[in-house]
Amino acid sequence: MTVIAVFNRKGGVGKTTTALNLLAGIAQRGVRPFGIDLDPQAHLSGVFDTHPRLADDSVYGFFMGQRPLADVAHISASGVIICPAHLELTKLDTLLGKGVNVITRLRVALKKADQAPGPVVIDTCPLLGVLSLNAIFACDLLLVPVSADFLALQGAQQVERALRALEPVFKRRLPRRYVLTRFDARRKMSSEVADLMAIAFRPDEICKTRIAENVSLAESPARHLDIFRHAPQSQGAQDYKALVEELVGTGFIA
Ligand code: ADP
Ligand code: MG
Repeated sequence: MTVIAVFNRKGGVGKTTTALNLLAGIAQRGVRPFGIDLDPQAHLSGVFDTHPRLADDSVYGFFMGQRPLADVAHISASGVIICPAHLELTKLDTLLGKGVNVITRLRVALKKADQAPGPVVIDTCPLLGVLSLNAIFACDLLLVPVSADFLALQGAQQVERALRALEPVFKRRLPRRYVLTRFDARRKMSSEVADLMAIAFRPDEICKTRIAENVSLAESPARHLDIFRHAPQSQGAQDYKALVEELVGTGFIA
């Protein structure tokens, strides 16, 4: 079981779009993936039409009430298991603090094999609080989408700095990949950001796949669909299929 967390310190860079379509791309390979929404805005949960009324029926119940993840999980029509978020998650930092037993809670739960048998994809919010730290400590791969603009690159560099600061705790280099999203070859800024990424990050940690700017990718969440169901012939579907294949090729997805 691989755990992939999708994170960037900047919002609007394509984290949720990437989490959604990674889950869908993995499901297309015939395995049942497990999605965990750790963003209080609950956009990923919304795409799956999963809106628990009570916070306890979301991952909040897992963090606060010690409910098993499986207890709050839903099976979506597309075959993805999703543990939904709730707005109350914004209170977790104040309620729980950032002690070691708090930031490793998700990691400990996922290590128990029966909690999530398939590959896990975690969507996050841009804050480096208790939720994102749980995602970072639980993951085998941190995937950092960088929409092709300068602020998204800055957010990704902040992630790199945070990882370096955490590395003495991990006692190893946490595997990470930076993936350029919303790439538009006609826009000068897109190639400038690609060039700056090549300077900022290790070449082997930059995905070969680039996700193009594609209107179908922006449309599909509103229709409660992933890109493969909404527009299977689109550039967006091709790009996310290529990203899943790249992660399979590097052994991150079985
Ligand atoms: P985040 O989760 O990082 O905040 P989202 O995945 O919600 O970012 O994406 C932000 C916005 O950009 C959304 O409206 C989404 O539909 C749109 N978007 C994301 N990726 C693409 C893309 N490759 N092409 C076009 N629009 C995109
Ligand atoms: Mg999001």
